[in-house]
Amino acid sequence: MSGLHHRHLAVSPDWLALYYRHPLEITHGEGRHVWDAEGNRYLDFFGGILTTMTAHALPEVTKAVAEQAGRIIHSSTLYLNRPMVELAERVVSLSGIPDARVFFTTSGTEANDTALLLATTYRRSNQILAMRNSYHGRSFSAVSITGNQAWSPTSLSPLQTLYVHGGVRSRGPYAHLSDGEFIAACVADLEDLLGHTRDAAALIAEPIQGVGGFTSPPDGLYAAFREVLDRHGILWISDEVQTGWGRTGEHFWGWQAHGRSGPPDIVTFAKGIGNGMSIGGVIARADVMNCLDANSISTFGGSPVTMAAGLANLSYLLEHDLQGNARRVGGLLIERLRAIAAGSECVREVRGRGLMIGIELVKPGTDEANPEAAAAVLEAAREGGLLLGKGGGHNTSVLRIAPPLSLSIPEAEEGAAILADALQAAG
Ligand code: PMP
Repeated sequence: MSGLHHRHLAVSPDWLALYYRHPLEITHGEGRHVWDAEGNRYLDFFGGILTTMTAHALPEVTKAVAEQAGRIIHSSTLYLNRPMVELAERVVSLSGIPDARVFFTTSGTEANDTALLLATTYRRSNQILAMRNSYHGRSFSAVSITGNQAWSPTSLSPLQTLYVHGGVRSRGPYAHLSDGEFIAACVADLEDLLGHTRDAAALIAEPIQGVGGFTSPPDGLYAAFREVLDRHGILWISDEVQTGWGRTGEHFWGWQAHGRSGPPDIVTFAKGIGNGMSIGGVIARADVMNCLDANSISTFGGSPVTMAAGLANLSYLLEHDLQGNARRVGGLLIERLRAIAAGSECVREVRGRGLMIGIELVKPGTDEANPEAAAAVLEAAREGGLLLGKGGGHNTSVLRIAPPLSLSIPEAEEGAAILADALQAAG
């Protein structure tokens, strides 16, 4: 049992549920593995909720952080620092947004808050379109555009949010339709909403819903939405906090699966880019980014140490083609998992892209969510030396797999074998 057993209550309000009956205390990591306080080693299929984009304790990142910390740590939002400018230049050129600007924050929540500040100011409207089952962060404004009610603890928002169908393909009223019909139904839903409302500021969407259980629409939905949004002058914000930086294998950004949509007006990012250091950010067209007419700073956004980490991490990702690795290893892993799932009555669907794979569990022979099985598989996998994530709505019943993007094929096979045993043990 962990050395912090019970002591953690000081930092755990009742509304924050930790994973595992005996919460895990992680002491160190290397590559795709982490160790707990009792010396147990785990293959990490959840990458610290996707924060470890490349690898744990990546020497290139550790060195960049140590060198920068030895020079200056001081967070200098009001001055320039070289790693911040260099990282911004690279992010701008990777974004696909013409004449883009970046504003660095410290988290995905703060990035989305900033995107909302920009969009509502630009459009002079407090109305936001968001997707059902979405998750966008924990601040007052982020929870009020979060459609996943398990993660939206208040409705007292000054924003008016309207929820759109489309983020979940395999459940809900349109699930029985073909992909083309599904898109048409979601577009009709959006048009219907817009027919009855004032001018909305923006639509915000995760290309693949993360917390919501790695669900996604058919490719092309956001291109179809874009045509409607453009007619109304409504901005499109793509929340790439989980899907950015090549995680989905085929694309660098999740929105690119929607091809002809072109780049969004605003992209938000966080999590993996810092490999565990707190970096978030907003990328926007210059006219959108520049629309505020008063000062707004983030004291720790763009801090030289986190920026040095981000720069080293991004360089490693690009030089080692980890997006390609995600495509290759993720493709093999999903095949392996589908074969395992075929022998289990509890698995409704194995879905995903690249190294972002969800396994939805149901009560045997039904369509009903099975949160007990998800919890049991998580525990059994831990016993077997594998860390997994969980997601979904109130009935959290989707196992989430999102390892560091450097996962090797033998590691993917090892994880799949542990998972197969855990699925069997759990029932
Ligand atoms: N957007 C998405 C899609 C996320 O998954 C998350 C975090 N789970 C956030 C925003 C919020 O990011 P953070 O926890 O860094 O504030």
